[in-house]
Amino acid sequence: MKKSILKILESTIQGKVLSQKVFREFYSVDASSYQIIPKIIVVAKNEKDVINTVKIASKLKISVTVRGAGTSLVGSALNNGIIIDMKNFDSIQLSKNFVKVGSGITKGKLDKNLEVSKKFFPPNPSIGSFCTIGGMLGNNSSGSRSLKYGSVIDNVLEITFIDGNGEKITLPKNKKIAKKILECTKQIDRNRFPNVTKNSSGYRIDKIKSINDVHKIILGSEGTLGIILSTKLKIIDNPKKRVLFVIEYKSINSALKNCIKIKETKPSAIEFVDKTTLVEIKFKFNKKTKCLLFVEYDEKINFSKKKLKNVVNGKIIQELKNNVDISQWWKYRDLSLH
Ligand SMILES: Cc1cc2nc3c(=O)[nH]c(=O)nc-3n(C[C@H](O)[C@H](O)[C@H](O)COP(=O)(O)OP(=O)(O)OC[C@H]3O[C@@H](n4cnc5c(N)ncnc54)[C@H](O)[C@@H]3O)c2cc1C
Repeated sequence: MKKSILKILESTIQGKVLSQKVFREFYSVDASSYQIIPKIIVVAKNEKDVINTVKIASKLKISVTVRGAGTSLVGSALNNGIIIDMKNFDSIQLSKNFVKVGSGITKGKLDKNLEVSKKFFPPNPSIGSFCTIGGMLGNNSSGSRSLKYGSVIDNVLEITFIDGNGEKITLPKNKKIAKKILECTKQIDRNRFPNVTKNSSGYRIDKIKSINDVHKIILGSEGTLGIILSTKLKIIDNPKKRVLFVIEYKSINSALKNCIKIKETKPSAIEFVDKTTLVEIKFKFNKKTKCLLFVEYDEKINFSKKKLKNVVNGKIIQELKNNVDISQWWKYRDLSLH
């Protein structure tokens, strides 16, 4: 069976079809501790390749899993059937308030392009530049600034994907399908969904409140509803100023309790930094320091600073205003996870 699938794919796909052991092993792992050896890897060259792979797999009853950069922590890019790699889908078209990108573009390439026009796409998982936008949409990624700007699900305007029948669909543009999705979501009890800032479990039908939201069903669906080809992302102007406070705490408990008060001062980010990460930071901390909070504001800086000083119960050891220093401290924190 495997051989015939291989032959069919090889004669149909314009990109690469890989079945050698070395490639199957490479694609058998991601950033999780799981390993599943796939049968075949398709490195799709274009939309037609994605459609053909899905149609062939469906006919021969073999599963297809889409892969971005394979940085996911739960094995969601692994499968024993066909892995479809989207790295060739890395186009980028910048407009004033949104950017249209191919799903295989890395977050790093997107950020570099946006920086030129002093814009940014807010969700910033600590994996940083390595992950792809397709993977971020698949996981509904968030990051330190999601406190203010939300997760991916709050920052996507449109998605074009190939469904399980090999059909190309754009949501919310395709009104026929959009209406059907909206109709289904009317039956759900939104009160039964957790009221949290980050939620990537299950299909996020609770986020669909109007026809313009229906694409949100794809976000966090881990490739189970279709293969994303491209997407339109909301982008916003870089804030004029940022300030990052680094606060030392002598106990994890006091840092956690303080978080609740600090959140009321409306920071753009709060991030907890534990002892393991502290070791990676080039700074002489007090020996009794058990953990840190990074607290960032990107508007009303002086006003926010006053509010923070009224509620903080740890010791502020850094007040960073320069973008280079701010990025460096965020890097200390993020790189320690890699
Ligand atoms: C060190 C580290 C730190 C992290 N920190 C954070 C964090 O702070 N916040 C956070 O939210 N997450 C965090 N993550 C997780 C991060 O969100 C994911 O690793 C990342 O989004 C996955 O992107 P990827 O391109 O590697 O996708 P993959 O791992 O390749 O795939 C992830 C999922 O998306 C699906 N997928 C990929 N491409 C597509 C596509 N084109 N169409 C449909 N589905 C697709 C896959 O099938 C899979 O289910 C972290 C991960 C690491 C390793």
